[in-house]
Amino acid sequence: MLVVKIYNGRVLTPGGLLSGGTVVVRGDRIVEVGGGSGVVPEVEGMESVEGVELVEIDAGGRYVAPGLIDIHVHGGGGYDFMDGTVEAFLGVAALHARYGMTAMLPTTMTCPIEKLYSILAVYPEAKRMNVGGAQFLGLHLEGPYLAMNQRGAQDARYIRNPSRKEYSAILGRCPEIRRWSAAPELEGALEFGRELRSRGILGAFAHTDALYEETLEGFRNGYTLATHFYSCMNGVTRRDGVRYAGAIECAYLTQGMDVEVIADGLHLPTPLLRLVHQIKGPERTALITDAMRAAGMPEGESVLGDFSNGMRVIVEDGVAKLPDRSAFAGSVATADRLVRTMVDAGVSVADAVRMMSATPARMIGVGASKGSLVAGMDADIILFDDDINVGLTMIGGRVVYEKL
Ligand SMILES: [Zn+2]
Repeated sequence: MLVVKIYNGRVLTPGGLLSGGTVVVRGDRIVEVGGGSGVVPEVEGMESVEGVELVEIDAGGRYVAPGLIDIHVHGGGGYDFMDGTVEAFLGVAALHARYGMTAMLPTTMTCPIEKLYSILAVYPEAKRMNVGGAQFLGLHLEGPYLAMNQRGAQDARYIRNPSRKEYSAILGRCPEIRRWSAAPELEGALEFGRELRSRGILGAFAHTDALYEETLEGFRNGYTLATHFYSCMNGVTRRDGVRYAGAIECAYLTQGMDVEVIADGLHLPTPLLRLVHQIKGPERTALITDAMRAAGMPEGESVLGDFSNGMRVIVEDGVAKLPDRSAFAGSVATADRLVRTMVDAGVSVADAVRMMSATPARMIGVGASKGSLVAGMDADIILFDDDINVGLTMIGGRVVYEKL
């Protein structure tokens, strides 16, 4: 049995920051979180216990934080989940682990049904083989039940209204779908939302043309999270001279509604990030990369979605753009960058980390085992310095990345 003691860190716990703190891991679990330089009973005398190997890690005054969790990510390291191969799944997971991500929901895009089925079929093996990367906590389907005029970079050829026959077949084939993003105003979408809720799947409103009332109706029928808040949804709009509140205002006014933001510093300007943090708070806001395959890769040409027939894009200035540079075509953020952006925007390190650990863990129903440094939780732990440079990533008690 491996016992790891991480000491001399600034430990971020739900109860606050412990300076000179220690975290002890046994096997794949956290067994002790303590402050000060006091004795850690779990470790005392362990060196002499048969079958126990004790490893000590000096955090060197760096932050010790729960591993970062991304509930909306498409790719990285040159791979996209739409490539539909085990290699691609593992490549994305390994790349993001280097930047402090310890768990994720692999996210699909709108595509032909056969393509979606092939990705669902690959998922279990990819999950089994994934020992060195951010863990897969289930799949997130983005589309195909979206509003055509809010489709963004989703493929118009495959966008359609929900059909009970179709989604029942998809859900029946893959018990590992944990989240589904759809537009609640579409015909059949409320029934679909209720179906997701009855199965314990997180329903999220996305690529939607809904106004305030339709969004609220969606919330009451299972759509409790705003997918990439602000992007591809309405704020205040005028139709025939009349002003309406939109989905954005509904998310702000509805207390139980969650939001997620692409906090790469480009998709949403700093004042909006601060506004979201101030109004929704760190308990209701998740940070997401929404990253495409070029995350962690040199800038230049890339492909959005499936490598074989996706859209050609240009990556420059830290973001993917359409070839004519008329709009963003995806994020290339890594988890550390999201935390750094929030801290630069004036949010505390504790809040920024919480928005990418405990909060998203709670949203997808794994808050009892992931997202916090508490005894009994999974040993998903990261170390980073004041500039949020990740120096170590531990997943399930195993160090998968260490910057020497
Ligand atoms: Zn997305």
